[in-house]
Amino acid sequence: MTPVASTLSQLRLDDHAAWSGRLDSFTVDQVRQVLDDASGRYTLDKLAALVSPAAEPWLEEMARLAEQLTARRFGRTIQLYAPLYISNACINSCRYCGFNRTHHSPRTRLSIDQAIADADILAAEGFRNILLVSGEDPSFVTVDYLCDLAARLRPRFSTITAEIYPLLQKQYATIARAGIDGVTLYQESYDRPTYARWHPAGPKSDYDARLDAPDRFASASMRRLGLGVLLGLGDWRIETLALAEHANYLARRYWQAQVSFSFPRIRPAPEVAEQYDHLVSDRQLVQMMLALRLCFADAGIVLSTRESPGFRDALARICVTSMSAGSRTNPGGYSGRPDSTEQFAVHDARTPAEVAAMIRSAGRDPVWKDWDAAFTAPATPAPATHV
Ligand code: SF4
Repeated sequence: MTPVASTLSQLRLDDHAAWSGRLDSFTVDQVRQVLDDASGRYTLDKLAALVSPAAEPWLEEMARLAEQLTARRFGRTIQLYAPLYISNACINSCRYCGFNRTHHSPRTRLSIDQAIADADILAAEGFRNILLVSGEDPSFVTVDYLCDLAARLRPRFSTITAEIYPLLQKQYATIARAGIDGVTLYQESYDRPTYARWHPAGPKSDYDARLDAPDRFASASMRRLGLGVLLGLGDWRIETLALAEHANYLARRYWQAQVSFSFPRIRPAPEVAEQYDHLVSDRQLVQMMLALRLCFADAGIVLSTRESPGFRDALARICVTSMSAGSRTNPGGYSGRPDSTEQFAVHDARTPAEVAAMIRSAGRDPVWKDWDAAFTAPATPAPATHV
């Protein structure tokens, strides 16, 4: 059993009745005491109090504290990024996803030149931070493909990250050397039966292999480690505790890297007619985001265009550190390929310029570029001086 699997197993988060009882047992007064701790540090007990039903009356106070903590650690800035979908072919059959291999929709894979055509549009809009996204398509989206694409993207983008299928550690190291310096990989659900229900076939059906992947990319020197659960599949309070344990484990072990949380909520997707037992309301999502911020002061908080404009506007003022804008979730979507299938429907369809204007009106600076490769380049020797 891997270290993180062992950590989660010891907590018995799969004992839903026991955890629900524990969460329900917190009192409003206990939550108030927890809020006296402004350290931004994590303990499981603290987070459990903050995601408990007893914390609901404290949301306004939690938001006030989260805003202060975010401003102190990140300044009054929000990074902007855009996803670039490179393939919607997939060998998995996640029941909530438009790219499910059993779906009949045609598949689109972008050649390097086609991907660059989309990337050029994003660069012209101002983006310097790009997220490569793909279905699990290992026969097309190979390590060589990713390295070649990264080499072409590097002159245009200061930050290149990837949200792709799990790789081996040495493959992650190879794409890191090619300039991809962050990976996001959602466990989707930390609850094994829930995970099995929604991932019935393909490599992704192996829960443990997926759980182990962040260790592999973190140990391959990735600077940005993105985690998340797909909200709607399992009990959000218990999923938040498991997600936090995973993040805490990674942050302690790979302290040079930055952990980020994303909060993908289920969205309508092509050919998907599933019913979800655990849909998360706006208020619950806010509670989850605030609770994680108050326990992980240095973590990135990412909010994508899955969310509505009004919801994103409100959270931009509180704890978000990174936002996508103008997103297309189909390969070739920026350069006009409406025939290619999208992964899910975006909710915030504003242009990048409109989102940047919103961020400014929220009293934050939109940041298109937050990193320069020169920061990690070998130092140039100082010229010799003679005395
Ligand atoms: S969620 Fe990812 S792995 Fe699952 S079907 Fe969709 S693209 Fe494939």
